[in-house]
Parts: sequence; structure tokens; C-alpha cells
Amino acid sequence: MAEPILTLGEVIIRTTDFFRGKGIVTPRLDAELLVGEVLGMDRLQVYLSFDRPMAESEMARARELVRRRAGMEPVAYILGRRDFFGRSFEVNPAVLIPRPETELLVEAALAALRDERWAGEAELRVLEFGVGSGAIAVSLAAEEPRVQVVATEISPAAAEVARRNAERHGVSDRVTLLVQADFEGVGDGFHVLAANPPYVDPADKATMMPDVVNHEPHQALFADNLGYAAIEQVLKAAPELLATGGSVIMEVGAGQMDKTKEIAKAAGLAEVSVIKDYAGIERILVAYKL
Ligand code: GLN
Repeated sequence: MAEPILTLGEVIIRTTDFFRGKGIVTPRLDAELLVGEVLGMDRLQVYLSFDRPMAESEMARARELVRRRAGMEPVAYILGRRDFFGRSFEVNPAVLIPRPETELLVEAALAALRDERWAGEAELRVLEFGVGSGAIAVSLAAEEPRVQVVATEISPAAAEVARRNAERHGVSDRVTLLVQADFEGVGDGFHVLAANPPYVDPADKATMMPDVVNHEPHQALFADNLGYAAIEQVLKAAPELLATGGSVIMEVGAGQMDKTKEIAKAAGLAEVSVIKDYAGIERILVAYKL
């Protein structure tokens, strides 16, 4: 017996209920994004098309995407993209999915780069540690035409994604990608050193969301030394890499800011300040080389 034809609105409602039952945190949003993907619609078009009947072939494709999400695969990997700082970035499981709070890092870096101290500079030199998808490096280059980025990345597969995102947004001539774990040969005199390093304590694995821990790259998430290994690596290297007056702008995890500030001061950095994220968590460190 043929199943009754459902409308788009009915499919969204059923999918939302199904996702909620699975413990998915944003069930409605995820349903809209996935069903919209099948129909080639953005969320506004989805809203305006609730009465539209779903064809059986569309239902089959929607079921496949819904099944993947129910297995806790992140929506961004299913769609192959995520919006960040007003642009769409290709993502795949080789790269961390850009988070909204990391947009605060981009804002802080742009503010530092546009400081009157650098008003006379033809080129604003940015070094990024651990470029991942390229969300930070590409956003900075796309927002500010004077920006020249050198970015390191330990994973060749991630660096490939960053390369494609730089191309997609027309900044590949201003983003140099180096596949390496350290700062060997990157140069010096940078105006900004940006990093969203791996900072999660491996001991936290057991309590992390399955979407994150089962699907996102562990190299991008976890760091030894209670999560501080890469934070420390970046801050200790910063004084040699930065121009006088240059700044380190780095994201850290919840509860890590006090110790991170101490590491920054011990490394000889000064004028340390902190930006809170949307949840009120001290998230972005800004520290200067005076
Ligand atoms: N914010 C990410 C998370 O909580 C971690 C990102 C990182 O380690 N840089 O999953």
C-alpha cells in the first residue's frame, strides 16, 4: 500500500519530534536544514513552502539524511558546509566545525589589525596556528584587504579544506598554508598571532556530546597537559613571532582563562585582556608584545 503523501510542514514536524527523542539539542533547526537541503531550499523558502507535498523520491533522500543525523553525525558534515562570519565554508570530518564563539576571535583580530598603530602599514601580517577549515584565516583575509596570512596545520587533509575555502572566497593569493606542527620557518614580525588550538582535556572525552567526540577530528579538539599543551606552545612562541605592539588572539576552553593568562604573562606578554562568549564564558585571550 502506498504511504500517504506528506507535506513539507508535516515532514519537518515529524522529523523534529524524532530528533528530540534522540536527544538532539536543536531538533527543529536540524530538521529544517536537512529537509531544506533535499529540496534545494534555504530556511526562509522552507517556511514559505509548508503546504508543498513531498514527492516519494524527495522523501527517500530526506530519510537518508535524517538517519545520518539520528546517528549523531553533525549537520555541517552532512551538508558539507557551515556558515561562519557571513560566509559559507566547506567542512568535512578532517576539520573542526567552526563555532559561533570563534567569530568573536575574528572580530577581536580585525579590531587589533585596524588599530591606528598599523594605519600606515600596506600589509597586515597574520600568523595562524592550526588553520583547520580556514574559517579564521579566510575571514580575516576576506574582511581586510591588507591582510596577508601565514597559517600552519598539522593535518594535510585539513590544509586541503582550508586551501579550497581560500579559493572559494577569492583570497588564496593572501593565505599561505604550511603543513607542520611547529613554527619552524614561518617568519616573524607578525601583527597578529591567531589560534583556536586544540584545548580540550582528553579526560573530558567521556562527558562530551557524541556529535563532537564521535565525529570531529580529535587532533583539533584534544591536547595533552590537561588541554594546555597547544595553548602553551603558542604563547611561549609568541614573543619571537610578533612585531612590537603585535597581539596574540586565542580561543580557550571554559575554565581555562586564569591559567592561560598566567602562561601569557610568564611568556613575557602584557596588557592581557579577555572577551566573554555569548554564554558569558571567558573565551578569547588578547595579549600584547610591548
Ligand atoms: N569548542 C570546541 C568544543 O567545545 C573545542 C574547540 C577546540 O578545542 N579548539 O567542542
